Amino acid sequence: MRRQNLALVLGAVAAHGPLSRADAAAATGLTRAAVSSLVVELLQGGLVVELGPAPSGRVGRPGNALALSPRGPAGLGLEVGVEHLAACVVDLRGEVRAEARLPAANRGRPADAVLAELAGLAERVTAEARGLGLRPVGATLAVPGLVDAATGTVVRAPNLGWSALELPGTLLGLPLVAENEANLGALAELWQGGALDVVHVSAEAGIGAALVVGGRLFRGARGFAGELGHVPVRPDGPDCACGARGCLEQYAGEQAVLAAAGLDPAPEDQVGLLAARAAAGEPRVLAALEQAGTALGTALSGAVNLVDPAAVVLGGAYAELGAWLLPGMRRELAGRVLVRPWRPELLTVSALGRRGPLLGAALVTIRRILDDPGSAAASGPPRSAG
Ligand SMILES: [Zn+2]
Repeated sequence: MRRQNLALVLGAVAAHGPLSRADAAAATGLTRAAVSSLVVELLQGGLVVELGPAPSGRVGRPGNALALSPRGPAGLGLEVGVEHLAACVVDLRGEVRAEARLPAANRGRPADAVLAELAGLAERVTAEARGLGLRPVGATLAVPGLVDAATGTVVRAPNLGWSALELPGTLLGLPLVAENEANLGALAELWQGGALDVVHVSAEAGIGAALVVGGRLFRGARGFAGELGHVPVRPDGPDCACGARGCLEQYAGEQAVLAAAGLDPAPEDQVGLLAARAAAGEPRVLAALEQAGTALGTALSGAVNLVDPAAVVLGGAYAELGAWLLPGMRRELAGRVLVRPWRPELLTVSALGRRGPLLGAALVTIRRILDDPGSAAASGPPRSAG
C-alpha cells in the first residue's frame, strides 16, 4: 500500500509539479499527513526536491514546492545500430543529461566486440552523469531486430548478423534489458505526449514498426509484432534476406534506396548521404526516395486499414528524409486507405528523429521508477561524483 501511495505522490509531482504538499494531497486523495510522510521518503531517496519558497511577487508557485529531482536516480539508454553506437543518461524529468554517439561499422562485426565498445561508451556517459549528481539505476539496450525481452535474447537482427544472441543481464553493474528499437522509438513518442493509437515507423538499415494501441505497446503473441520491413510490396519482387520476395525493405531499405540512387555506400551515415544528395536536387536520388516513399505508403496502407490508428509517425533516421518520402507515402495512403478522406496530417515526422529509440531506452528505467519509486529509493541516496 505504501509503495502504491509513493507512486501516487511521485506521479502527481511528475504530472503537475512543482506543487505543494497540500496540492499533492488534493491530487492524490491522500491526507496531508500521509503525503508529508511519503514526501520524506521521496526526498531521502533523491526522487524529489524542494524548490524553496516562491520568490516574492511571483504568483503561481506554492511555498516549498516539490519537483522531480534533477539529480538522484537516472536511466541509462544504449543503442546498437548498424552504423553507430550510442548511449545517454536521462534524469527523472526525462531530460538528457549526458549523451555520446560513435560511428561504428557493426554489420557482421562480432557481437562481443560491439558490446565491449558499447560498454566503453556507457562508462563515459555514466561517469559524466555521476559528476552531475545522477545515479543510473538501470540500462536498456535498443536493438534493430527481434528481441525476446523475457530472456534478454536477440532472436534475430539480420542487419547486424546476430541471431540467438544471449545478452548479459548486467552492464557496468546495472540491470540490462533489451528491446526492439522501433518499440522504444514509439514509447519515447508516447511518453512525451504522443497519440494513444499509433503506427510508428522506424527505419535505417532495416525497416521496423511499432504499434501502440490504447496507449500500450502491442507486442503480438510472441513479442515480435511490427516487422513492417517484411510486409510484401510485390510478391514477385527481388529476394529478401528473410527468405521471402518483394518485401518492403527491398524497395525502401537504405541499401535498396542507395542502389536505386546509384550511390556507393558511405563509410557511415547512409541516410545523411541520401539527405545531402536529395537536398542538392540530384534527380536519381529524388527518384529513388520517391519510389521508397511509394513503397512505404503501400505497405503502411495495409497497416492503417487493419488497425485504424490516430496517427502514423515516421521516426528513426528516416525522419531526416521526411521531406522526400512523405509525398509518396501520403499519396499511397490517400489512395488505399478505405476510410476516406485520409487526412494527410495524420502522417507526421517524429520530432525526436534518430534520437527516439535511444531516448526511449533511457526512459524505460525512468518509467519504472515513477511506477515503483521504492525500487530506486531502496538503493540509497545519490553517490558523490567520481
Ligand atoms: Zn523480407
